[in-house]
Amino acid sequence: MDDVVWKGSGEGLRYAIVGGGMSGIMAAIRLIGQGETNFTVFEKEADIGGTWRDNRYPGLTCDTPSHAYSYSFALNPKWSSYYASGPEIHRYFKDVASDFGVMPHVRCNSEVSACIFDEDSATWTVGLTDGGEVEVDVVIAASGVLHYPKMPDIPGLDTFAGKAFHSARWDDSAVVDGARVGVIGCGSTGIQIVNALSNRAERLVHFQRSPQWIMPVPQFDYSAEQQEAFAKDNALIDAIRHDPDYWAAIYRFTDGITDFNSPQIAEIEEYCRQNLENSVRDPELREKLRPNYRAACKRLIYSWEYYECVQRPAVYVETGAIAQVEPEGVRMQDGTFHPLDVLVLATGFKADRFIRPAVVKGRGGQTLDDFWNPRPTAHLAVTLPDFPNFFMLNGPTGPVGNFPLIDIAEMQWDYLKQLLEPVREGRARCVEPTREAFEAYEERRIAAARKTIFGSGCSSWYLDDTGVPATWPWSYQAFVDAMAAPDWQEFRLEA
Ligand code: NAP
Repeated sequence: MDDVVWKGSGEGLRYAIVGGGMSGIMAAIRLIGQGETNFTVFEKEADIGGTWRDNRYPGLTCDTPSHAYSYSFALNPKWSSYYASGPEIHRYFKDVASDFGVMPHVRCNSEVSACIFDEDSATWTVGLTDGGEVEVDVVIAASGVLHYPKMPDIPGLDTFAGKAFHSARWDDSAVVDGARVGVIGCGSTGIQIVNALSNRAERLVHFQRSPQWIMPVPQFDYSAEQQEAFAKDNALIDAIRHDPDYWAAIYRFTDGITDFNSPQIAEIEEYCRQNLENSVRDPELREKLRPNYRAACKRLIYSWEYYECVQRPAVYVETGAIAQVEPEGVRMQDGTFHPLDVLVLATGFKADRFIRPAVVKGRGGQTLDDFWNPRPTAHLAVTLPDFPNFFMLNGPTGPVGNFPLIDIAEMQWDYLKQLLEPVREGRARCVEPTREAFEAYEERRIAAARKTIFGSGCSSWYLDDTGVPATWPWSYQAFVDAMAAPDWQEFRLEA
């Protein structure tokens, strides 16, 4: 590192932040905090907020406690409940972005269509779908993971006479009160929608191809007095954020997922099993709701109410195979017909897109599509060899699970900030991981990923196209340690 000498222009770096969601807003605030103003947040939609803007379905909540799902630098005494609702979270991000001066840097309705690296100038040309072009030194890809809806390939779907739509494209004109509603999918989304509609719809059919394990969690409102006390004393919020029981559960969970034979996972599974046994009264329904794979293999559902809601009179659980959608409803392979007015497709997302479909070209014109064949990946989830000064927040192979992704993004920022230090100081033009370091990481990661609970024999969005879990396969602490400081031997600085 010492022998790299680049005489910087001294004008400060120019940044493009791709995406105005939780990570992009955080990156912008961090840049402002370090006195940098030469950046733009490119947001493809008309508003910021990422997943909390896109998802507007009834019952939307975050399954991470609200005080933990907050930026460390913008605690929110006003959270109304232990698990906050989607609209409240969206409001929070918008308020924080506004309070920290991010909005003048945000360019809405501005989708990034290309990021092309020029080796001579060591700059990125960022192309926009509206035809615009911007030259920057650094690209921060903060595009999120779950933003391209995965539509189910069910015959006849387009013949449905009622309203049919994906959960992340909620159709406000659809009348669900007193209507016959079908919800396909029982991931976190489908479960929350069914909870919310279980006493609103006249009949609610929950189509479950693979029933889910449900982890019971508490939910409660914060009183006005509590909110006042939080506002006066942030230590009270910190006590919730750093609640030893909460973190013990997270550590137990992340230690457990690293080994599907671990006692921690057995304990979690037993907890979920007891929840099923003790909560569902009808033995037939209980068996319908019993998963045939390990708990936490798919993302564990946290819910304080699903088993109660699904036992309401209007709700019917359908675990048979769907044959086709017909104009009046859904036909099962055994001939059963469910007449429906509204069909909600809570069928998940294409989790391998990240910044794509933008065309990203690094050194030698290498495309991200090629680099990510057969799977999206990044060195320690943040950097890519041959894509200099290109950083990912909540990108591929990062930790995902039932814990705050804000925390992950903040750690990733602290790490990439250190990586950029030589470039900011004018000692190098670019930084990128060496191919050797990246390949060694990938080899270790894939071997470890196969042993995680995600690889224990179920399908989920955690798996890549080759069936390898795409997530961080080690403990939470291992991630914290990896992000604490770069191992400079793994990086190449170019003068
Ligand atoms: P998901 O977990 O991928 O679940 C998709 C569901 O749709 C699964 O039950 C799947 O069944 C079913 N499905 C897909 N295609 C189908 C088809 N052709 N026929 C029948 N069923 C089909 O998607 P999600 O529920 O939207 O959740 C995605 C992620 O978003 C979550 O894991 C979580 O990370 C995040 N999320 C978080 C929260 C929160 O509270 N923080 C809330 C919502 C979402 P199979 O399992 O059989 O494939």
